[in-house]
Amino acid sequence: MQERKYKFGTKAIHAGVEPDPATGAIMTPIYQTSTYVQEKVGQHKGYGYSRTLNPTRHALEKAIAELENAKYGACFGSGVAAIDALLKMLNPGDEVITTDDLYGGSYRIFTGVYAKYGIKFHFVSMNDLKNLSQTINKNTKLIWIETPTNPMMNIIDIEAVAKIAKKANIMLGVDNTFATPYLQSPMDLGADLVMHSATKYLGGHSDVVMGALVMNDQSIADEIYRIQNSSGGITGPMDSFLVLRGLKTLHLRMQRHCENGEKIARFLKGHPKVDKVYWPGFEDHPSHAIAKQQMRGFGGMISFSVKGNDLKEAHSIMERFKVFSLAESLGGVESLTCHPATMTHAAIPAKERQKVGIVDSLIRLSVGVEDAEDLINDLKQALV
Ligand SMILES: *Cc1c(COP(=O)(O)O)cnc(C)c1O
Repeated sequence: MQERKYKFGTKAIHAGVEPDPATGAIMTPIYQTSTYVQEKVGQHKGYGYSRTLNPTRHALEKAIAELENAKYGACFGSGVAAIDALLKMLNPGDEVITTDDLYGGSYRIFTGVYAKYGIKFHFVSMNDLKNLSQTINKNTKLIWIETPTNPMMNIIDIEAVAKIAKKANIMLGVDNTFATPYLQSPMDLGADLVMHSATKYLGGHSDVVMGALVMNDQSIADEIYRIQNSSGGITGPMDSFLVLRGLKTLHLRMQRHCENGEKIARFLKGHPKVDKVYWPGFEDHPSHAIAKQQMRGFGGMISFSVKGNDLKEAHSIMERFKVFSLAESLGGVESLTCHPATMTHAAIPAKERQKVGIVDSLIRLSVGVEDAEDLINDLKQALV
């Protein structure tokens, strides 16, 4: 299935998997095994020990790589474990430039874990790429971006960042969790690595925690596989099976996430209680033109602030929801709501938060695939 001639929906269903060679089972079995019997000393069928490689995980790694138009894939026990593996490619003294509006857990591993090993992190706004160019120096080894950003839905021009990175010989990693490969293909725009929290849209059913990295360059892949095997932050066969199953409907789910997202964004924009609505599909979103160019749809993630910017009011609106569930995470079939300032982004100091727009009344929605009318009615009764 490597051939690009297949379109996304076909790849989502067939990539990485083939009938089980032992039985013909059409679904990849859950190879719940730690080890593999060797025919002779050192002679096996490609699988020696399940930390190194497991057939269920292997099928998933190939599938995610193909969906991202990449050659190599590696899956980990969580999204942050995937980021952890990537950061282990760096050495003390190396510097990383990333966005100032970033998933809270990424900020936490950067500042709370790797900073003490002598890696320096710069957080800059990439709405203006001059900030990026000005921060690059001879120690810069990695540029790390998310687009759309979480939770402010800023859009970063991946192709423009890739050009800057290539010129300076810096590795570019893109967290593609929000957009998914259905809506955005960072490898085609010049990224060296794409990362996913497969916990979100790839798994799609809020039943698994997992991360993934994909890449094209063999030397990067060799290093990632060496780290995956050496540090051992792998994902198990059962979870691999669940995400393989999730991938088969990724295109169908994303179509509905996009449709529902648009209806809800437009409803919120016209609501008298709502102050600002952050969704890249609006013509007046500051980076709408870039979003249109690099994305094939605008997704189901929306943030909005409430007039008056009162924390208590935001909390009580969220507690009135009946269909939207109050929970961390995103990207599942069910609609979720979260309060970034006190939940996902609580790890970021208040001053930093306010600077990027994460005000006290900001509410984030992960719009699910329920009926849009029910979701809008839920918002109507909560926003009183
Ligand atoms: C959830 C998330 C992560 C971290 O993934 P986990 O699977 O929770 O470890 C990283 N980036 C983004 C954008 C996320 O939403």
